[in-house]
Amino acid sequence: MADFAKERNWDQFHSPRNLLLAMVGEVGELSEIFQWKGEVPKGLPDWKEDEKVHLGEELSDVLLYLVRLSDICGIDLGKAALRKVELNAIKYRASKNYSTNDDSTAEMCG
Ligand SMILES: [Mg+2]
Repeated sequence: MADFAKERNWDQFHSPRNLLLAMVGEVGELSEIFQWKGEVPKGLPDWKEDEKVHLGEELSDVLLYLVRLSDICGIDLGKAALRKVELNAIKYRASKNYSTNDDSTAEMCG
């Protein structure tokens, strides 16, 4: 990502704030794909191939901006994410019996 930006002289535009706002814009584009569809089943079995391709593109846009933002901020995202998973494992113990009606059941981050 750093090489890609440098080769295009985009470093001048890639401030933390600009990258964050660009990523939020891409989250909006990702949200548009699901907008008005209601709940959809896992695996998206009823979606057309071109819809899934589009979904993959928008997920990638979000990921790429997140990686670039992390790099620009001097954060080792891989290391930070692994640390957070470990913290979440302590916070949300697997031995606890989570109720299906408990809002925290599906919460992976906090
Ligand atoms: Mg996009």
